[in-house]
Amino acid sequence: MGHSVDQFIGGKRTSEQALGGSPGATHAVVNPATGERIASTDLDSRRSAEAAVEAARVAFPGWSATPVGDRCQVLFRYKQLLEKHFEELAGSIVKEHGKTMAEARGDVRRGIDCVEFACAAPLLMMGRTLPQIAVSTSFCRTEDTSGIGIDSAVDRVPLGVCVGITPFNFPVMVPLWMWPMAVACGNTFVLKPSEKVPLSAVREVELAHEAGLPPGVLNLVTGGPKVVDALITHEDVKAVSFVGSTRVAEHIYKTATAAGKRAQCMGGAKNYMVIMPDANQDAVIEGVVGSAFGNSGQRCLAGSVAIAVGDVPSWFIPRIKEVAAKIRVDRGDAPGVGMGPVIDEQSRARILGFIESGVADGATLVVDGRPGACAMPKQGCFVGPTVFDNVRPGMKILEEEIFGPVLSVVRESTLDAALATMNRSRYGNMGVIFTSSGYNARRFKTHAQVGMVGINVGVPAPMAAFPFSGWKQSFYGDLHANGEDAAKFYTESKVVVTRWL
Ligand code: NAD
Repeated sequence: MGHSVDQFIGGKRTSEQALGGSPGATHAVVNPATGERIASTDLDSRRSAEAAVEAARVAFPGWSATPVGDRCQVLFRYKQLLEKHFEELAGSIVKEHGKTMAEARGDVRRGIDCVEFACAAPLLMMGRTLPQIAVSTSFCRTEDTSGIGIDSAVDRVPLGVCVGITPFNFPVMVPLWMWPMAVACGNTFVLKPSEKVPLSAVREVELAHEAGLPPGVLNLVTGGPKVVDALITHEDVKAVSFVGSTRVAEHIYKTATAAGKRAQCMGGAKNYMVIMPDANQDAVIEGVVGSAFGNSGQRCLAGSVAIAVGDVPSWFIPRIKEVAAKIRVDRGDAPGVGMGPVIDEQSRARILGFIESGVADGATLVVDGRPGACAMPKQGCFVGPTVFDNVRPGMKILEEEIFGPVLSVVRESTLDAALATMNRSRYGNMGVIFTSSGYNARRFKTHAQVGMVGINVGVPAPMAAFPFSGWKQSFYGDLHANGEDAAKFYTESKVVVTRWL
């Protein structure tokens, strides 16, 4: 069954049992490429949740009073440690998540970007001042006829204990979207990683302590819904960051805000890529394949619908068929691998169900990723790259997030028709256009109802200095993760009006 995953509270590893809790339900952490059980996670560790919030509450006064430059020194050292342990962390992601080694390295690299950006906290937290906003004459000395000046300033101050709840698909990066900026701004933090991939997160937190983060500033609790609900309604918690599916994002946003917390909840997605007849064909194939099949389609920025405009299908369908069929589906650490497994058996069954529904609804199956039709290892949670043509509104494969390597091709005659089809979606994470026309690109950028736009880029992932800017049901809240939004989310404004007599 593998060892039980530790909690990390008050600067050290511990367990629900050691904290006096009774063993509740557990979740098996499984290597999806082999089916091997590598660990088990406690799902109901509410004692740990309570202890973690308490450790964070106790650590807050000292940490928030530590000068921001000193707080950032810890993150500078942490960045160096992440570089030193880069391959170890990537290997851990391959093992518990199944990504290819190249994708796992991307996960760690984009996470390190967030740590680097958090070191800009001295600038990002800076307030503003405006002298002489008014004059007061009531206490004026007789020689001072113009009155006594009143100045005003706004400071940005940390909130207190913040909580982060993260999904399975980026085990290292998504936690790093949250806690480095939160602690750089002077908050303390409780991380609740996905029960499916807790091991990389525990190591990430442990390394932060090796870098010199004081006990209690960053804590980690494993668990499922009961632990999440206890954390997001806890009276000592001030803010909640969530990344995961839309169903849970909506629940967390409503529950946390009803309990008076500040919340930012990133949800699911269904992302469209519009291919214009004037696009560079090589760039389209490279961009669409990377977007639809990278990370086995398990990215909230995965392009899962390609809208082929005008005569595009005549060249796009044969080329995507040829390239997708050549992707090697194997374990993430196998030489020459192009695509690893999906996260677990449940996901695999769900994705295969979507493929069946596409066939039943009359879409044309151009590339079949089902076992038997596609070469893949016998054991493990594998689904091959799959492409449907002639997908139409109303089909389940077009309406719902599949979160697997399934690309749906929709045919439209004009850019405006493509935009109308795309904008019907209840999601609004990202949209992409491939074109060589500045006019088309600008029209797309202007009218796309999405928060992240790619122009000749298959995965328009914002670097850490920009907000991760989903719209519609891909996001609940107003301040996004990353960028200046993150520093605003993790700080409160305090206005000071001053008069010296
Ligand atoms: P998920 O919603 O199932 O789980 C996310 C987290 O919520 C986990 O930590 C889980 O333990 C917890 N959780 C699950 N059910 C809960 C419940 N009923 N109550 C309280 N907490 C609960 O998501 P997942 O399957 O881990 O991740 C995939 C989803 O995440 C996809 O929908 C994907 O699009 C989305 N995602 C979004 C972004 C983004 O930035 N918008 C980024 C990555 C992933």
